[in-house]
Amino acid sequence: MQAKLIEQLTGNDHPKVMSAIERYARWMLPLNTRFRLPFPKAKPHWIAVSANPEPMESGVRWNGIMLDITDQVLEELRLRKLSDTDPLTGLPNRRKLMGQLTHLTSLSTRHGTPLSIMMIDIDHFKRLNDRWGHLQGDSVLPQLADVTQSLLRCEDMVARLGGEEFMVVLPLTSLQQCHKLADRLRHTIADYDFGIGQGNITLSIGVAEYRCGEPLVSLIERADRALYSAKDVGRDCVCLLP
Ligand code: GH3
Ligand code: MG
Ligand code: MG
Repeated sequence: MQAKLIEQLTGNDHPKVMSAIERYARWMLPLNTRFRLPFPKAKPHWIAVSANPEPMESGVRWNGIMLDITDQVLEELRLRKLSDTDPLTGLPNRRKLMGQLTHLTSLSTRHGTPLSIMMIDIDHFKRLNDRWGHLQGDSVLPQLADVTQSLLRCEDMVARLGGEEFMVVLPLTSLQQCHKLADRLRHTIADYDFGIGQGNITLSIGVAEYRCGEPLVSLIERADRALYSAKDVGRDCVCLLP
């Protein structure tokens, strides 16, 4: 590959391509990789490289092809987003959330950093649908998503698990901090006018903190049981289990 072209690579792409070239040259193996090529005043193009190494006296010569695969990559990204997104709220769906949680729990175990989650369920949503109609019920869900997101940091994630159930994932957050935020969210929602008058939407929230090394399902079960406690004690509240 031309050294001039590699010099143009930005961000992670430069070290990624350089280390791939060095590694595959060392083992004399075919190189297959892709990277973003910056274009002035335009979006970067995605380039795929497929090349075979040929030993030379002065090093390695790469023989192969480079293809502009921008359209293919954009289509891949579009499909990935579609399969990861809940269409009604635009939030990440359960699939995306589980991937993120798996990644974050492994980081938490490795570094011993805190990680907490909130399991959220709208109170008496069926009753709201019965009274105001399903369309009005539908309109509450994206608004709830927006309000929740406005209270979070960019590294946090809120996802729609299904129906009127949501989960918030909070990296680097202790149970106590998570509880405080959940209570703030609960108050904000209770005061928010969703177009059906204030106080008609309330949340029950179960919170739980990840215990280093425990299976992911245990964390989710604990938050789920905390949510059921919140429903049991009368709804519109936040619960945690010892
Ligand atoms: P609880 O306080 O115990 O959570 O009562 P609830 O009525 O919210 O709970 P339940 O699980 O009995 O019913 C959930 C209802 O949420 C059922 C359905 O009518 C409604 N629902 C689920 N998904 C949607 C949706 O996408 N749009 C609308 N409008 N309603 C939904
Ligand atoms: Mg529910
Ligand atoms: Mg509910």
